[in-house]
Amino acid sequence: MGKIRGYDGGRRRRKARQRKILLAFVSVLFAAVLALLGVILWKVLQPVTVPTVPQELVDQYLSSQTTEADITWEMTEAPEYTQLVDTGHPTVDAANKLARMYDYDGAIAMISSTEGYQNDEACLAAIEAYEELKSQCVKWERYDQITHVFFHTLIVDEELAFTSEKRDDYNQVMTTVEEFNKIMQSMYERDYVLISLHKIAKMEVQPDGTEKMVRQEIWLPKGKKPFVLSVDDVCYYEYMNGHGFATKLLLDENGKVVNEYVNRDGSVSYGSYDVLTILEDFLTVHPDFSYQGSKGILAFTGYDGVLGYRTSDFWYTDGCPYYISTPENDYEKANYHTSPNLNIEQDKQTARAVAQAIRDLGWEMASHSWGHPNLKTMSYERFVWDTDMWEREVEPIIGETDIILYPKGADVGEWMASEYGAQNAKYMKLKEVGFDYFCNVDGSQYWVQIGDQFFRQGRRNLDGQMIYKQILNPDRMWVTDLFDAQSVFSENRPTPVPGT
Ligand SMILES: [Zn+2]
Repeated sequence: MGKIRGYDGGRRRRKARQRKILLAFVSVLFAAVLALLGVILWKVLQPVTVPTVPQELVDQYLSSQTTEADITWEMTEAPEYTQLVDTGHPTVDAANKLARMYDYDGAIAMISSTEGYQNDEACLAAIEAYEELKSQCVKWERYDQITHVFFHTLIVDEELAFTSEKRDDYNQVMTTVEEFNKIMQSMYERDYVLISLHKIAKMEVQPDGTEKMVRQEIWLPKGKKPFVLSVDDVCYYEYMNGHGFATKLLLDENGKVVNEYVNRDGSVSYGSYDVLTILEDFLTVHPDFSYQGSKGILAFTGYDGVLGYRTSDFWYTDGCPYYISTPENDYEKANYHTSPNLNIEQDKQTARAVAQAIRDLGWEMASHSWGHPNLKTMSYERFVWDTDMWEREVEPIIGETDIILYPKGADVGEWMASEYGAQNAKYMKLKEVGFDYFCNVDGSQYWVQIGDQFFRQGRRNLDGQMIYKQILNPDRMWVTDLFDAQSVFSENRPTPVPGT
């Protein structure tokens, strides 16, 4: 044992000597590197930090919780973006449009497909800028943290709306034009970016031939947050006439989608009086509010027609073969619908053209059921009838869709993912007719569920009720992540807002 120990000890002593030499060498090297690094850092940082950053900013930085990475991004962001300046070069200006919406690959492809771009200084500089901006993007990983907000048709004339016989309903579930403008401005300033559902996840064919809902890659500049926006009941219902809302969507003489608005004196104005048109104006000024051209979702019922056109044969065509004559139905037809609509075929055609133009702008269309019932509690038989009615009267006009935004927010299943399976007949019926995206209403900040066969998301109503609820409960988080409730809430609203 001893011999072995001695032999071992001699080796250890030699090793210890070698280690000392190595340690000394490494120490010297380390000190040299540190010194060099110090000189470099001093050289690099000294002229930047000392003369140009005011002390308040340094203090702010030191006291803030922001990570160093965020600061780096903020410092690089501003100058990089100024590179996307339009100079009248047709190709570069067109590509800039894509790049401002974070579609850098699209912008590069657009320039690369132009003949002679390799010899064009402006083209090459633009490609370089796009590559740089692209390299600064980060991949969004928090699919369960994408918020979804929704509105109804906006109130244009607050006095009319809040004194009409439906004032309590409007006060509760509607948003005014002014409020909507402030909300969008605030969300834009807080770095929210519109995203379409199909850019979050979509059905893709798998190698085995089956289809599966697959998360899509989302690349955004650091700090930007995707959000989904939808608008319910874009039908301009008959009962809303004269209450201070837009009355329809149509194409003007240039083919642009505009609203019709009837003024108090009966004169008609065309322009931006509702979510779609107002948001389109906003995006013209702020294209970086949209992720690669994403817009909102418009949801339609069928019973009163769509987009302001009375297109339902059930109510508006005398002798409709599938009309169901009951005392209740006959009463409703006589009293709540200006029926018959003798212009119905022309109206369907016009609505179809408007819907196509809206799709061309990048908006998505959705079902909101045909008759706006509670799909959760109604009988399966009536559920099937309503679903088929939507397919029959609405889809031919607005086009095929795979999105349903539940009326009254009533989901056909409880919150568990297992609720959306073969045992749920209503869900299976909706899948059968082509729906893959299912949105309920939920007050929480995020509610996203992505299954193999479905995408579910909760939606937040940014209406009078929600904004007022936030004002009453300043310590709760209803909308504080999006905007300041106090400064958004219209002073023309009667208070308390019903439902709060
Ligand atoms: Zn609705």
